[in-house]
Amino acid sequence: MRGRMMEAPLLVSSLIEHAGNVYPDQEIVTRTVEGPIHRYTWSDARARAKRLGSVLVAQGIREGDRLGTLAWNTHRHLEVYYGVSGIGGVCHTLNPRLHPTQLVYIINHAEDRVLFVDLTFVPLVEAVAEQIPNVETVVVLTDSEHMPETSLGNAVSYEDFIIDGDIDFDWPHLDEQAAAALCYTSGTTGNPKGALYSNRSTVLHAFGICMPDVFDLKAASTVLPIVPMFHACAWGIPYAAAAAGSKIVFPGPRYDADALSDLMSQEDVTYCAGVPSVFIPLVQYWKNTGSKPESLNMVVVGGAAPPRALMATMEGEFGIEFRHAWGMTEMSPLGSVNTLLPTHRAQSVEEYSHFQTKQGRPPFGVQIRIVDDDGKPLPHDGIMFGELQVRGPWVIDGYFKEEESSLTPDGWFPTGDVATIDSQSYIQITDRTKDLIKSGGEWISSIDVENTAMGHPDIVMAAVIGIPNEKWGERPLMIAVATPDSSPTKESVLKYLSETLAKWQLPDDVIFVDELPMGATGKVRKVTLREEYGGE
Ligand code: ADP
Repeated sequence: MRGRMMEAPLLVSSLIEHAGNVYPDQEIVTRTVEGPIHRYTWSDARARAKRLGSVLVAQGIREGDRLGTLAWNTHRHLEVYYGVSGIGGVCHTLNPRLHPTQLVYIINHAEDRVLFVDLTFVPLVEAVAEQIPNVETVVVLTDSEHMPETSLGNAVSYEDFIIDGDIDFDWPHLDEQAAAALCYTSGTTGNPKGALYSNRSTVLHAFGICMPDVFDLKAASTVLPIVPMFHACAWGIPYAAAAAGSKIVFPGPRYDADALSDLMSQEDVTYCAGVPSVFIPLVQYWKNTGSKPESLNMVVVGGAAPPRALMATMEGEFGIEFRHAWGMTEMSPLGSVNTLLPTHRAQSVEEYSHFQTKQGRPPFGVQIRIVDDDGKPLPHDGIMFGELQVRGPWVIDGYFKEEESSLTPDGWFPTGDVATIDSQSYIQITDRTKDLIKSGGEWISSIDVENTAMGHPDIVMAAVIGIPNEKWGERPLMIAVATPDSSPTKESVLKYLSETLAKWQLPDDVIFVDELPMGATGKVRKVTLREEYGGE
């Protein structure tokens, strides 16, 4: 028997409608690419998203068409998210940090008809314009006053583009399974692949991440997504904040620690989210200047394993609740969050920060398991490790334009991460499958060694890779960055590591470099390190 409930599709447009109706005066603040701070409300954002949507329809954009963005976190980018998905278009966020040849590949693979581009990236588009023939219009996210001289024949300023749009435009009724957004994964091997989110998956993910033990978003939150809107839709925050009625503060193009910190202080930001590599300099900046924003009381950090020392400092020194999160583009992206229980909080920071290196528990909506090499499920005992597999309504079942399913025969998505799961369902990622080091038949977790090394007072970042070794198969090599004005020795680092690691887990060598190669989404590029040091 069917229930007698309304058919009400879960649509991205319903999120902005909700925010515009229920939280009309809640603010959205942007440090613009042009420079000044821009300030308006959810009600204004809705009106302008409608203007954009109506213009796109008038210009012949149809359901399922892909429209790309090359843009920072700003209010205009937010309007594009809603204006495009609201009419059934697919908002395809491009990562401007990718190599131009990769961008060309992705734009052509997606067949983007329109590109919405920040001023910063106009030269990038000019340089590849001839290689992206499908792009009919380039909308530069600025006004006519700031429009640059450009060789692009099809460029128009965003403000001119939407000027005649209809603020009372009615969003079309869509199937909730209709595609809404498209994100390509970084693709460290082979070509990038697209995760194609639906309206339904996006709305369910927004519900999921608002929950108290997940991102805990609410109308009292002022959230600053440091994570870019081109990185798995800023982890869904632009959607979840609309559902929860949170104030949003967008950092625009300024990612330096002083700019971020000032903006947090000026706007009373309570909450921010980003990858570990942005928080490391931020914490250093607060230590040097004593200027930690008073309002900031929670951070969500994920995308790569954060060092324990970062958690201990945030919690112990600055009183900020640290939530360690794990996920992937294929999961919209949230997979798990480590939110401490009262029993953990009863311990000292020193003790519970060890526990915080676990990636946490899945929210309702995500199911997890680990399997052995034959695909057989392993016990959740916190000891056995195997490939982590997931399923749920915001996990992909295959990639954009690929016929075949990406799932196991029994319907789980293999993440490529190796993990343990304990009896309380806390996940601990040991490594990417390809980053695990096998030495003399024993597995060494590069994350574990890196994390320990980053507790050394003179080490700011460390990466560990496996180097072929005749006797042991592979041996770990550490490449490390020292804190400014310090000069740690290999011996001091190894001595420090040996306090907690077994002898066979210690790196054979420690190489000091000025910086580590970082990928487009804030992860250390181990591929580059292997190319450079792999033969050693
Ligand atoms: P992107 O680089 O776009 O974030 P990916 O989806 O390629 O996207 O990255 C997902 C991968 O990042 C995960 O499979 C995992 O290996 C790694 N990752 C994400 N969060 C964490 C975390 N908290 N700890 C360890 N690894 C993480």
